[in-house]
Amino acid sequence: MKQPIYLDYAATTPVDPRVAEAMTRCLTMDGIFANPASRSHRYGWQAEEAVENARRQVADLIATDPRAVVWTSGATEANNLAIKGVAQAHGKPGSHFITSTIEHKAVLDCFAVLEEQGYAVTYLQPNEQGEIEPEQVAKALRPETVLVSLMLVNNELGVINDIEAISQLCRQQDVLLHVDAAQGAGKLAIDAQQLGVDLMSLSAHKVYGPKGVGALYVRRTPPVVISAQMHGGGHERGMRSGTLATHQCVGMGEAFAIAKLELEQDQHHYHALMSALVDGVLAAGDVSINGAASNKVANIVNFAFHGQEGDRLMMVLKDLAVSSGSACTSASVEPSYVLQQIGVGRELAHASLRFSVGRFTQMDDIDRAVASVQDGLAKLSRLS
Ligand SMILES: *Cc1c(COP(=O)(O)O)cnc(C)c1O
Repeated sequence: MKQPIYLDYAATTPVDPRVAEAMTRCLTMDGIFANPASRSHRYGWQAEEAVENARRQVADLIATDPRAVVWTSGATEANNLAIKGVAQAHGKPGSHFITSTIEHKAVLDCFAVLEEQGYAVTYLQPNEQGEIEPEQVAKALRPETVLVSLMLVNNELGVINDIEAISQLCRQQDVLLHVDAAQGAGKLAIDAQQLGVDLMSLSAHKVYGPKGVGALYVRRTPPVVISAQMHGGGHERGMRSGTLATHQCVGMGEAFAIAKLELEQDQHHYHALMSALVDGVLAAGDVSINGAASNKVANIVNFAFHGQEGDRLMMVLKDLAVSSGSACTSASVEPSYVLQQIGVGRELAHASLRFSVGRFTQMDDIDRAVASVQDGLAKLSRLS
């Protein structure tokens, strides 16, 4: 059977072959296999060197000092470390936090825990474009606000937040700013200092690296103090214990080095694919784009198929690997909370699909995907 066309790069990317090759060199006896924390022999020193080289590669993509990079198991853990770590280090009874209703679950679920612990959390609602406006943050800030946590790029819409403007507001009031940049890295040029963020979550597997590794940027000047969530040997300057997975760190480093080197090339490729995809799909029927059509990264688009039913839509588009954004709760399928929050009705949210392209998508894939959407919609109109 023919494989569906993979258009779900925002869920995860395949590992770049150059990354896989670098990782392979860090596993077996003849490679860099040792514990990077082993200080008493050359094997350990080599592993430490490999991990520190990778740390520099990750830091380079966000234009910062390698000492500001703390390894984690992914953006989920980085978000947990940032949010709970700030709450534990800086929170007092009555402390207040600000986030948005369209954050990734890894952020929303952390704030649900903080609410259970008695902290106050304000959930900002995005505008219809899917943006959080800086003025909303300004209005929500209180004297007892400790942390603002907002994403750089939304994973369902691809919409970009004006983090630089938001960071200035936070800075003025001495409030910490955490940014989940899992969907921004490798898609946008990122300069952590210029953005003015205090904490920033990154993931390898959205950028052609392996799953199971990520990092938290923790600003050094002036230093940001967070409480560790994982205790053990005091690795990562006490912020995150556990033996570093050399092959994973090296994989993320290589992936981020490639992302930096090839950022413009990748962006150019995404733009070309995306404009063909958008032109083709919008022309195929009564289709619109959910969220902002222009203030977004070029690799993600969320289409609303008006007058269609979600199930039937997925059925006729089964040769496309795309994402519905729906979540299965025990009793029913809930349409995407992100779409509902930007004012898309439940029915239309059910009939919405996220398409995301990547480095290995070819123009031929887009042509076939567009043809598939045309055929699918024609089939559905014959049926009704
Ligand atoms: C994928 C993603 C995460 C989770 O990252 P993992 O590395 O898979 O834990 C968090 N936030 C956003 C915005 C994401 O897209």
